[in-house]
Amino acid sequence: MSSPLPAVDLVLRMPAAGDAVERLGRAPVLDAVRAELAQLRADGATADAETVAQKAIVRAAAELAASQRPVFNLTGTVLHTNLGRAPLPPEAIEAAARAMANATNLEYELGSGKRGERDAHLRGWLRKLTGAEASSAVNNNAGAVLLLLNALALRKEVLVSRGELIEIGGAFRIPDIMSRAGCKLVEVGTTNRTHLIDFANAIGPKTALIMKVHPSNYAIQGFTSAVPEADLAKLAHERGLPFVIDLGSGSLIDLAPFGLPHEPTPREALALGADLVTFSGDKLLGGPQAGLIVGKAELIRRIDRNPLKRALRLDKGRLAALEAVLRLHADPDRLRQRSPTLRLLTRPEAEIAALGERLLPLVQVKLAAMADVELVPCQSQIGSGSLPVDRLPSRALALRPKARGGKAVETLAARFRALAVPMIGRIADGRLLFDLRCLEDEPGFCQQLDLM
Ligand SMILES: *Cc1c(COP(=O)(O)O)cnc(C)c1O
Repeated sequence: MSSPLPAVDLVLRMPAAGDAVERLGRAPVLDAVRAELAQLRADGATADAETVAQKAIVRAAAELAASQRPVFNLTGTVLHTNLGRAPLPPEAIEAAARAMANATNLEYELGSGKRGERDAHLRGWLRKLTGAEASSAVNNNAGAVLLLLNALALRKEVLVSRGELIEIGGAFRIPDIMSRAGCKLVEVGTTNRTHLIDFANAIGPKTALIMKVHPSNYAIQGFTSAVPEADLAKLAHERGLPFVIDLGSGSLIDLAPFGLPHEPTPREALALGADLVTFSGDKLLGGPQAGLIVGKAELIRRIDRNPLKRALRLDKGRLAALEAVLRLHADPDRLRQRSPTLRLLTRPEAEIAALGERLLPLVQVKLAAMADVELVPCQSQIGSGSLPVDRLPSRALALRPKARGGKAVETLAARFRALAVPMIGRIADGRLLFDLRCLEDEPGFCQQLDLM
């Protein structure tokens, strides 16, 4: 015979339970106590009040823990979509927090006391940074493309080169977006070669626009030919059609002076004759998730009048963060210091190597029981489809598990993912690689190692 289970009230009177109620709240602790007792009853087991209280506290704390938490991005992919892409500059975080905590002039003109427009907060900066007449901001770049197509080409045809019918991670496929936007995709040319004459021949009475998609996450090499933007723009304009470019990553500044490969900017795309350009807020721009459309005022007006704009608009927090990021772009030197995205992308190899040399002996000692650790050269990537073929030289801690067996390295990786601040690396050749490019919190990293 097992002794009867303690009553809920008795468990709650345990000193530890009292502390937990203070810390976690009465309702969650009460729920957890009931759940623990139900579990014991179902198992036909028993426990004293103190034990039930302890278990309930662990259960309540686990249930109340934040689901989304900071992690160490040691994958070597700087703009990692699954890990939240761009980390924001401090001034953007402060601006977002201030806007979210308060009533703001989000859609209110302080001069006239009349209703204003939320996108007005970005307009001046985007005009200055891209040369565009007008702009519109939405939830993300996929949303920007969807909105643009729906507003300008509903029940009409859109010409796109066959070589640009891309899928970008997270199920953004140009053909799917086209059909959801209510447009008919007309594929032009072949996968590897498309010529201006192909576009000219494809234009018909139902054509609404010509679109170019920046092949963000791949490159076609070998016997290839794409039509230069300027030629496409000229053809479109001769036939009275808008020419739009989906840039994707869209850095607002030339990255070459920072030692990074050149990525076409919205300003350049507009200068080549694009009427509209779309790009993401949280890729090379280094801001919050957003999609930006810049270009001709007349087309932006049509976009802003579309009901989808209302469904895809940005909230005040992200608008404030974006405004702060754009403001930083006014001074590229400052931007490099303040933007974590640019700082990580341009982090000198020597600095990463020095960090690795500092960490190596420490990590070797701390992980002595579970892995052999070396410092190895590796290649980071920018991520999010930006500059796909370019790699950034970096250093990684390479952990080879001491345990033998097919799953040893996966088991090791899982242990690092189970830390309070999970460490996410990548597995290659039976080793767990921690690329150090994005590791800035050295003390925090060492603290987590102590918990291994
Ligand atoms: C990333 C990307 C998108 C999608 O942008 P999100 O901001 O992720 O919605 C669309 N087009 C191109 C060319 C891209 O690179």
